[in-house]
Amino acid sequence: MTDTISNEPPATTGAELQRRDLLKFGGFGAAGLLFGSRAASAADLPPPSPVDRGRVEEGRVVFDPWRSPADTPSAPPPAPLSPDERVGFAIVGLGRLSLEELLPAFAQSKKAKVTALVSGSPGKLRTVASQYGIDPAACYDYESFDAIADNEAVQVVYVVLPNALHREFTERAAKAGKHVLCEKPMATSVEDAEAMVATCAAAKVKLMIAYRIQYEIYNRQLMDWVREKRFGRLVAMSATNVQTVADNGAEQWRHKRALSGGGSLPDIGLYCLNTARFLTGEEPVEVSALLHSPPDDPRYAEVEETVAFRLRFPSGFIAQCLTSYGARDDKHQRLNFERASVDMPNAYSYTGQRLTIAERDGDATAETAVKLEANNQFAAEIDHMATCILDDRTPRTPGEEGVQDHRLMEAIYRSAETGAPVALPAPERLDAFRGPPLPEDKG
Ligand code: NAD
Repeated sequence: MTDTISNEPPATTGAELQRRDLLKFGGFGAAGLLFGSRAASAADLPPPSPVDRGRVEEGRVVFDPWRSPADTPSAPPPAPLSPDERVGFAIVGLGRLSLEELLPAFAQSKKAKVTALVSGSPGKLRTVASQYGIDPAACYDYESFDAIADNEAVQVVYVVLPNALHREFTERAAKAGKHVLCEKPMATSVEDAEAMVATCAAAKVKLMIAYRIQYEIYNRQLMDWVREKRFGRLVAMSATNVQTVADNGAEQWRHKRALSGGGSLPDIGLYCLNTARFLTGEEPVEVSALLHSPPDDPRYAEVEETVAFRLRFPSGFIAQCLTSYGARDDKHQRLNFERASVDMPNAYSYTGQRLTIAERDGDATAETAVKLEANNQFAAEIDHMATCILDDRTPRTPGEEGVQDHRLMEAIYRSAETGAPVALPAPERLDAFRGPPLPEDKG
């Protein structure tokens, strides 16, 4: 038997013939039959409806929803500024935070761009400049840093160095006429933190402290619920920020007091302290603390391992906080309101925040998991700074916010040392050390 090739169509049933004819003549009335067919040309297809095409309103592309209100709406398309309009940032210090989080986060920023790098390591400068397309002429070492004054592409200097170097580079940046975004903790003492505020004010530049959690949307949601008393009065909070350190940890700058200013408290306990403050907007009027470091462990020869501290606020709200370098990674907060408890794992992590509300539902207890569209906290914080430059506003987390945390940390250490609570003055208004929140901080 031999195979033959024929140009004749095989015998067909009436239905198959009809299908072939539909395809040939672009029969769209039988759309269900078209799967697997060759695509028709655009000219033969119905044009996009306004629902699909969207429109431009005030420089943004806008689409009408196509899913019913029963579904959670998707976020609108971002409206990034063009590269020419963005605020230029110099990153000072090419360590882990800069390389692992900040430089990647600029890709999600809508208002900022990296225009310069500063590092003491020529190899890192060359490599990172080439990875992120930074002009080699805009790369500085710590000695040549002051020449950044002549670089008009830099408006903000982002200080990402060990804590004890924050003051020097903030002040040098301010004297070069640049605004400053400074990593937390702001400094290593109240005195240095106050000097940074004064220098930036004298140079008429803005100073913002990089409290990323104040720009993270789950914590912002929690702040709104606290302030609108959604579940009644906030009675108490427990906040834990603990992690571990490798055996060779003593070699790291975090374990050298001259560079860090302290151990777990200024490094990670600060998140518990700052969050307890911004959720309510109140300031603690009393702090008490216990401190422990394993004796004879070289990692804790200069800085503390563990601090448990308690904050009492004017409304009666009490925050119990725990920080340690000796316990497995855990960043958890729980808020106890009159009518609900709210549980938040990963509260201070870079990602993975979750919110569960437990409250009465008739004769039952309802546990509701709240899911928000997560933002990149670093990009949100960087964009907040950029907005403050573009619109000439005070940052939500200015230098004064960082100074107050240093005052409180000094009181916590004092209480741990003396065993007695330390009383503090109560400011007359809420958010006494903060600038206004911006609508776009909500993501
Ligand atoms: P890191 O050790 O990874 O990087 C520090 C960089 O500073 C290194 O590149 C190092 O070479 C350079 N450096 C310059 N002089 C130094 C000196 N004398 N000793 C040691 N290093 C020196 O540290 P990191 O984790 O990137 O922290 C940098 C800053 O960012 C700190 O203030 C830290 O508290 C803060 N931080 C903030 C977050 C956050 O979530 N916002 C997270 C991590 C670190």
